[in-house]
Amino acid sequence: MNTKDIDGKSIAATIKKEIAAEVAAMIDSGQKAPHLAAILVGHDPASESYVASKERVCHEVGMTSTLYRLPETTKESELAEVIRFLNQDEEVDGFIVQLPLPEHIDPDRIIALIAPEKDVDGFHPVNIGRLQLGQSCFMPATPHGIVEMLKRSNIELAGKHCVIIGRSNIVGTPLAVMLSRRQINATVTLCHSKTANLNQITRQADVLFVAIGQAGFVKKDMLKEGTVVVDVGINRVDDPSSPKGYRMAGDVDYLDVIGTVSRITPVPGGVGPMTIVSLLQNTLAAAKKTVYP
Ligand code: NAD
Repeated sequence: MNTKDIDGKSIAATIKKEIAAEVAAMIDSGQKAPHLAAILVGHDPASESYVASKERVCHEVGMTSTLYRLPETTKESELAEVIRFLNQDEEVDGFIVQLPLPEHIDPDRIIALIAPEKDVDGFHPVNIGRLQLGQSCFMPATPHGIVEMLKRSNIELAGKHCVIIGRSNIVGTPLAVMLSRRQINATVTLCHSKTANLNQITRQADVLFVAIGQAGFVKKDMLKEGTVVVDVGINRVDDPSSPKGYRMAGDVDYLDVIGTVSRITPVPGGVGPMTIVSLLQNTLAAAKKTVYP
């Protein structure tokens, strides 16, 4: 089979242009630029890199971004204080608390403090509940980006058997909810580390979504011919031939499945760029007050 990549990078570039045009129109009409703030506690290297990309992409589309850097030793009560400040700050349309937080801070208690109408990551229980109910909400960026990418790639999901491996709160679980709702109408199976006979289930998938964090986990013997594969995984694997000594790899063994699958998202260049633009779409919606009028 002739496998074709799903080019998340170029779809994300198109969406960025659309967002930039909307931001420019807001500014032309005398409104301020949408403003995204991020709170980063400590110096986790992956978090540093995510926050830097978010700031860069914000500036690319003409949005304002502010980074609140707090030391690793920040107390939960001090972080709570910054969140209360941002909840009130009329200059800021939406903000995120970059995860993971240091061990001594409870992420669930912290996320619950964010005002739902500024929760552009879509992690607050109110936004998650509204998603379940099919109500207007901020959708978590990664599953929202995946759905948008498939839509713009003309991949039909209605009536299809979508199998998801991984049930995290930020990817697998909200993706299962979104795909099974009326707007998409897929039939969904959500698999996880305790799923029995995983290969038998994945072989039934018309579309397979993989978000587990294990490089090269999915091989061609887990797939039926012609399946569409969405690889969410971002894993660092040793590679002495690369100048950095490592490379990024997905949860799917790309070279093994090529020729069996019809479409696949590469890593990098697939889901990753879509996640960032979805955060920008949420920030734009927060500034325009379309989710919580
Ligand atoms: P997580 O670590 O929170 O959860 C992993 C999930 O995978 C769990 O539900 C677990 O039950 C399941 N799992 C683990 N091993 C399994 C196995 N052998 N068989 C079946 N299920 C198994 O995951 P996460 O935060 O959703 O992240 C998953 C991956 O996606 C990571 O590589 C992460 O870096 C990546 N990620 C990428 C983006 C992006 O923008 N591309 C965004 C978020 C996460």
